Amino acid sequence: MNREPVIEQLSSFLRIPSISTLPAHDADCRRAAEWVAAELRRLGCREVEFLGSETHPTVWGVGPAVPGAPTLLLYGHYDVQPPDPLAEWTTPPFSPTVRSGRLYARGAADDKGQVFCLLQAVAAAGRPPVNFRFLIEGQEESGSQVLFDVLRREPQRTAADAVVVADMSYVAPGWPAVYTALRGLCYAEINVRTAKSDLHSGEYGGAAPNAHEALVRLLGRLKGEDGKINVPGLYTAVRRPSKAELAAWRKLPFSEREFLTKRVGAKALTGLKRYSVLERLWALPTFEIHGIKGGFTGDGAKTVIPAEATAKVSIRLVPNQKLKTVERQVAAAVKRAAPKYATVTVRFLHGADPAQVDVSHPAFALLDRAFREVVGRGTVPVRAGGSIPIIPALGRGGAPVILTGIGLPDDRLHAPNEKLDLKQLWDGIEVFKRFYELLGETGRR
Ligand SMILES: [Zn+2]
Repeated sequence: MNREPVIEQLSSFLRIPSISTLPAHDADCRRAAEWVAAELRRLGCREVEFLGSETHPTVWGVGPAVPGAPTLLLYGHYDVQPPDPLAEWTTPPFSPTVRSGRLYARGAADDKGQVFCLLQAVAAAGRPPVNFRFLIEGQEESGSQVLFDVLRREPQRTAADAVVVADMSYVAPGWPAVYTALRGLCYAEINVRTAKSDLHSGEYGGAAPNAHEALVRLLGRLKGEDGKINVPGLYTAVRRPSKAELAAWRKLPFSEREFLTKRVGAKALTGLKRYSVLERLWALPTFEIHGIKGGFTGDGAKTVIPAEATAKVSIRLVPNQKLKTVERQVAAAVKRAAPKYATVTVRFLHGADPAQVDVSHPAFALLDRAFREVVGRGTVPVRAGGSIPIIPALGRGGAPVILTGIGLPDDRLHAPNEKLDLKQLWDGIEVFKRFYELLGETGRR
């Protein structure tokens, strides 16, 4: 394979700033969808459709008919997270650049590079070994509403013998993985109002309530310094992983020390110290504050008592927790923690139930074999701390949902200097090509 044109082709995808959460980028999302559609047509798709939205359509494709062969649904997303803080990028986020074997760009690993890998593997397979179906959505990073609606109306789109979701990573370099669980998400905005309008801190300071102060006190009550989340009932549904699962995690090439120094880059790790880091990342709920809005944050000084403050927060959910229940619990906890003098409202922006995947279906063994043949090691079953809200819906047609991917743990998803190691891409193309072939053989006995 001549690699230069392949990198250039992926780069043309990465140059489109398809940030789904920012309305200013609606046209870019549409352009990214068109890029995907053109690729699907190039792969010989008979049917390519835009589903559910003009600006953030889910791209649907049906590959050439292969009578008697199984049907494989490939899922991915063409939208990306906002790139800020821009100053921290070594090269601009939407100017893909190769440095020492790595391709740097927003979306390089999450998820354009991986979508590209799945599609390149289809091209590399030559005559299609299976009946391909494609669902490439444009709102994964902002709630997947379009695809949720599409699948509610047309559940037959997920009718397949297997679904591959390549939006994940190896658990360590050289260690490909399949994922047995994903955390869910409950994303909320907490708004605090303490007065009709902002007030002069000289005239009123000392007697008037301050919205920012009320908000940070409230947030402080919701999570203790020890990492415990003070939302009554939140931990009730949480189940500890089995002894066997915990034992398997201890055998993974994971060092807490290296995780702290190389990946987190902080002075210390936080959270519930009684549990291992992997258990905190994969099997316990989180509470994170993403941003606080309000008051004065410009250059210089302005002596104001803010009347309003808003925090964006989220809770990651683990298997057995339910989004609807957690929303109720969070709303009640905020109400309880709010000071009497403030008007506090909670608005839930988006969310997802956690997902669990049974990896005993024979299709998993085929992927394991493909990885073994190409990279020399099979897949290890692990969990993921992240969320892909659409996963349960993708499996509703009864097909096993294979969560895997070619990323590496240090790809810096959602952060500055996101990258994809090109070796992962070249290996990945071979792995998925081999997987498609192996799956194709199962249908032709
Ligand atoms: Zn993703």
